[in-house]
Amino acid sequence: MKTYFIQTFGCSMNQADSEKIHMLFLQSWLKRVQKWQDADLVIFNTCSVRQKWEDRVFWMIQEIHKHNVKNSQNIICGLTWCMVRKTWLAQKYLPQETKREAAKKIEYIDSENAIFNNDDRLFPRSNNKLDFTVRIEEIKYITHILSHITGNKIGNDDKFDDYLKSRQLRENPASAQVIIQSGCDNYCSFCIVPYTRWAEISRKCEEIVQECREAAQNWAKEITLIWQNVNSYGKQFVDKKMWNKEKSSWNNYEWQSPFRKLLNDIDLIEWIDRIRFTSSNPHDMTQDILDAHIDLRHTCNYLHFALQSGSDAMLKKMNRKHSYSDFLEKVRYLRKKDPLFSISTDIIVWFSWETEEMFQETVRAFQECEFDFCFTARYSVRKDTLAAKIYPDDIPDEVKAQRWHTLNDQLLENITKRNTLMLGRKEDVLIAWVKDDYFFWRTRNFKEVFFERNTKNKIWDIVAVEITDLDRYVLHGKTV
Ligand code: SF4
Repeated sequence: MKTYFIQTFGCSMNQADSEKIHMLFLQSWLKRVQKWQDADLVIFNTCSVRQKWEDRVFWMIQEIHKHNVKNSQNIICGLTWCMVRKTWLAQKYLPQETKREAAKKIEYIDSENAIFNNDDRLFPRSNNKLDFTVRIEEIKYITHILSHITGNKIGNDDKFDDYLKSRQLRENPASAQVIIQSGCDNYCSFCIVPYTRWAEISRKCEEIVQECREAAQNWAKEITLIWQNVNSYGKQFVDKKMWNKEKSSWNNYEWQSPFRKLLNDIDLIEWIDRIRFTSSNPHDMTQDILDAHIDLRHTCNYLHFALQSGSDAMLKKMNRKHSYSDFLEKVRYLRKKDPLFSISTDIIVWFSWETEEMFQETVRAFQECEFDFCFTARYSVRKDTLAAKIYPDDIPDEVKAQRWHTLNDQLLENITKRNTLMLGRKEDVLIAWVKDDYFFWRTRNFKEVFFERNTKNKIWDIVAVEITDLDRYVLHGKTV
């Protein structure tokens, strides 16, 4: 086995996890290729938020199988992240005498006491064309699995024994994403993450700061701290009673959360220009974290703040722990401090039993909060979640389509209004990407700006750009 290809689906967490796998494979002397047809190994880093992405994975596995048959190749297929509950190996790699149906837990793979488990539904769903599955937290097993499948020693397992400590090969060195937690304890009723990533664990503060320092030494100008609920960072380090007491009132002037302390420490690193974080949940958002956007030198005037619905009744069904009025109060607090403060959000439309009245409450939330961007997910049932067990997916397709359009029309109206405020302004834009004849990346308030490529500037530069034009979701400008 010499070459590999990773197909990543989903959010920035998945992107960062793929970077970990890239680093692991680089250290194992595997070479990355740009087309799956050229690879000996294909890894699907999956997302379960949408059914169509799951279907796409199984379609691709069948395509790879057809390609293998036609070209007498043997491309190995592995699957990780959201769709995976356990680390398993396909039956065909197990000893003949193993009386199991499709797969075996990898734990103690070489041991005589190997754990025998029931087969994972992912193997039959792929018509048994899948070779292995691996929970991303068990990243240390990947090279172990590959060694077992190929019969050759691949990599050095000792180096990769901890998910949170394993390094990323950064795709975009100007803008580094640093993982600060794993797992999630929130159990929103529609979400599969707590079942796939298990309990929330926070990395040690010193480890995170050190990783940020190293990223800065490697020229990163922007650091984004990422996980599912970054503002609950460090709750394991604080007495539970104290945590609940301090969180009972969001605008407690005395309280300094572990996440704020982490931000303070990262802010001391020279060379970093921008600190961002995503994703934040309203129920864990306290004033010290909101104030960090304004008070610290390097934090930016942008927040991704997951609302999910503007209806309190719907939020309750979703097992979210905030109300719309709590959310709005925090949005207003930020915009009062800085009218150009950008806020993006996540919304699930047509969750079970969403009445027209509930939906209209979300539309009203869009109008009141004037979001700068929104990731709108169409609800689809995720097996094993609480919602799949107790709520039917009962909204007719034509109603879904109509609500989708209404919300997107409203979003475009908001974006146009908010982006118009940027016209004529001179903004510092970090160049992180080049596309054809354009440089592009973000202003401090996370607006995407394209401007003409030139020979004077390069990736990593922060340049003054005058915003001249808007084109739906993005801005255009010229250097000044
Ligand atoms: S906070 Fe809710 S939506 Fe986000 S990962 Fe956790 S359970 Fe899922």
